[in-house]
Amino acid sequence: MTASYFAGATLFDGRSIRDGSGVLVSEGSIQWAGAHARAPREARTARAIDGRGRTLTPGLIDCHVHLCFDGSPDFVAEAQISEAYAAVKCLGNARRQLAAGVTTVRDLGGTGAVVCEVARAIAEGRAPGPRVVASGQALTITGGHGWNSFARQVDGAVGVRVAVREQVRSGARSIKIVATGGVLTPGIPVDFTAFSPDEIVAAVDEAHKWGAPVAAHAIGRAGIESCVRAGIDSIEHGSQIDVAIAREMRSRGTFHVPTISALEGIVGHPEDVPAFAVQKAQQILESAKVAFRRGIRGGVRHACGTDAGTPHNPHGSAPLEIGRMSAWGLTPLKALQSATANAAELLRLPEVGTVEAGKAADLVLWAGNPVEDLTILHRPEMVMRAGQVWAAED
Ligand SMILES: [Zn+2]
Repeated sequence: MTASYFAGATLFDGRSIRDGSGVLVSEGSIQWAGAHARAPREARTARAIDGRGRTLTPGLIDCHVHLCFDGSPDFVAEAQISEAYAAVKCLGNARRQLAAGVTTVRDLGGTGAVVCEVARAIAEGRAPGPRVVASGQALTITGGHGWNSFARQVDGAVGVRVAVREQVRSGARSIKIVATGGVLTPGIPVDFTAFSPDEIVAAVDEAHKWGAPVAAHAIGRAGIESCVRAGIDSIEHGSQIDVAIAREMRSRGTFHVPTISALEGIVGHPEDVPAFAVQKAQQILESAKVAFRRGIRGGVRHACGTDAGTPHNPHGSAPLEIGRMSAWGLTPLKALQSATANAAELLRLPEVGTVEAGKAADLVLWAGNPVEDLTILHRPEMVMRAGQVWAAED
């Protein structure tokens, strides 16, 4: 594989941004990154990519997607498909992610072990797509949120432990628990407390033994609190994070993944999303915004997650979510960190998320400076995944 050299670009390395930079890539990884004026000799013989007037960033990371779902208005209806058909949908959605500059996704629940198999197929080069960290099916209580769409039903601390082991056996590298009620399942209040504290402790302890991060779907206050106390890695949604919980999240380093795009997609389309879901999303929209800002003020770390696949929230929406987090109060630089360095830390993927020698060459070139204008993220100029430039016809 020939080497490539990005010359004279503005570089956002996952943490900070600097003009006049150069990045040398070969054999699928980053060989060198630094000031263009001090580029190593190998840069002269490498294929040159003009970075002037452009910004190079790590490939974006979306910590919360559902590859089995396209984002159609009726989420539960969309789930009623065979595993084979779900796999075909996953491959199309994986391509959409890559086209948008998203080179890593974490899937937080789908049909059977489909996403685990899709992750393997992409890793083996059978299909184009981002790196996929699969959770398999999410874990929910009997009759809990997601039971009829993206989760398996499991009860009791022992049952939860067995389920985590089975998920890992199927290829899951992340575990998702549904700690409270949710918007998209009829008949369950949005802030209902689902798993008991001992069940949550069992899930976290067992998953961590396997080295898997644990994400908690958590909207109601009591559920969020039990998860944070159990040492969960991320609170997804988190619409009722209060001051005391924000303080505890900060001291423990718990990430908040607000998934603003999920709420906007539902609230913005009352004409075709089921009425029960619109009503529940409207009920939590304002508190979600307050909770997010409380977290910012309290020093909580954020990671980018779109919940892509939920109604009117198609795959490849991380650039939109970054803009939405900024609109809700995060600085553009922090919003970018949430989709790069922070996300890689949450997903326990040290090889991605920053631009440094030795990291995987997952890079995106943008036509301008996203810190000055986040809408630049809607149009990637070049997407590189493990050193390979991705093209639409791949
Ligand atoms: Zn989700």
